[in-house]
Amino acid sequence: CLLQFGKLHLKDDKVEPSTPESNEDKAAQSLLNKLIRSNLVNNTNQVEVLQRDPNSPLYSVKSFEELRLKPDLLKGVYTMGFNRPSKIQETALPMMLAEPPQNLIAQSQSGTGKTAAFVLAMLSRVDPASRFPQCLCLSPTYELALQTGKVIEQMGKFSKELKLAYAVRGNKLERGHKISEQVVIGTPGTVLDWCSKLRFIDPKKIKVFVLDEADVMIATQGHQDQSVRIQKMLPKGCQMLLFSATFEESVWGFAQKVVPEPNIIKLKREEETLDTIKQYYVVCNNKEEKFQALCNIYGSITIAQAMIFCHTRKTASWLAGELSKENHQVALLSGEMMVEQRAAVIDRFREGKEKVLVTTNVCARGIDVEQVSVVINFDLPVDKDGNPDNETYLHRIGRTGRFGKRGLAINMVDGKHSMNILKRIQEHFNKRIEHLDTDDMDEIE
Ligand code: ADP
Repeated sequence: CLLQFGKLHLKDDKVEPSTPESNEDKAAQSLLNKLIRSNLVNNTNQVEVLQRDPNSPLYSVKSFEELRLKPDLLKGVYTMGFNRPSKIQETALPMMLAEPPQNLIAQSQSGTGKTAAFVLAMLSRVDPASRFPQCLCLSPTYELALQTGKVIEQMGKFSKELKLAYAVRGNKLERGHKISEQVVIGTPGTVLDWCSKLRFIDPKKIKVFVLDEADVMIATQGHQDQSVRIQKMLPKGCQMLLFSATFEESVWGFAQKVVPEPNIIKLKREEETLDTIKQYYVVCNNKEEKFQALCNIYGSITIAQAMIFCHTRKTASWLAGELSKENHQVALLSGEMMVEQRAAVIDRFREGKEKVLVTTNVCARGIDVEQVSVVINFDLPVDKDGNPDNETYLHRIGRTGRFGKRGLAINMVDGKHSMNILKRIQEHFNKRIEHLDTDDMDEIE
């Protein structure tokens, strides 16, 4: 079933914000990340650890064997194709599996292995022979809960008696029902109902409580209160685990409310850099000239795959149309598309089925551009006040340290204002952006 995200009534010339602003966007972005993610993101940074008891030894593991998991669970892990723990898992797993159980707050960008880590922790603590809920996991939305549920089902595939229940809207159970599934995943509202009003779950028997995507969670009105109310029903010895991709003050405040006496693990995201990027600008007067310049570029250099950024949906779809007429294999990504559609487009592009991806801002967050050799800013990134959006510029064309191949970025400038934006971006990064004459492309090769 396809689930609708984008707002349908938006006009075509809608400017796509460069950063997700509403909770809906945040949740959609997070879902998109999950749908398109096929493996771990690279991260060479050190994990920062703050232990509740600084005197207790800090273990880290380099293999899953060292964790002495139940054989069925270890089999599940290997069947998922995991050979060894990710950076954050190396430290988080021994901490989460330690006896007596310890609480944990962990933060790292999406794709670093948090979900796999807490699923493993839940499944290793569960007693499949006991037919009642023992692990409870909260997700911010229905769709995200389903995604995490899939991971639980995959990893728990070989644990025969293990069952999972989804506490999400639409899942209606008969009054008086008692849940026999050992693991429950759901959204705060439904879980709260199941624990209190409907009494499907006895919260006093929960051993592990996971709060996933805390940053997305608190962006939704009511979720924070519901989560706190659920947490208060849990027994004293219950292990509390909280995960977040980002860590603003508000997330931190919430984390401390729901996770007493925590260990804390943080993994900084890999810095993006422009060092390996050759940056150019092209001067044009309007979008037709920009398109002509683009054709000249295509005519003179070999471009394996390119991503082209436009400011509005209207420009993006116009440009995609023009490029198609020139026989380019074009994919278009834009904000009114459903998350699942976007994920499909990104997948096709990554498989090389299309060579050009035309996109507006919001969609491009989270896409790995490592494989893309050329990035074109058909419009320069500006914030809602019309000032240069340096962060987005870096995110569009920057590569992460050691992993990034060399790249080429071409900025299309139209008019004085746009030239001024370019200059300010150049000053900000203190990296020269060179002039390119697309009628004479010798210099680029
Ligand atoms: P996060 O929750 O931080 O976004 P995930 O747990 O979803 O990260 O992991 C991101 C991707 O990496 C998923 O496709 C997952 O299957 C995979 N993955 C997780 N842990 C490992 C591992 N130890 N080895 C290989 N792949 C892994």
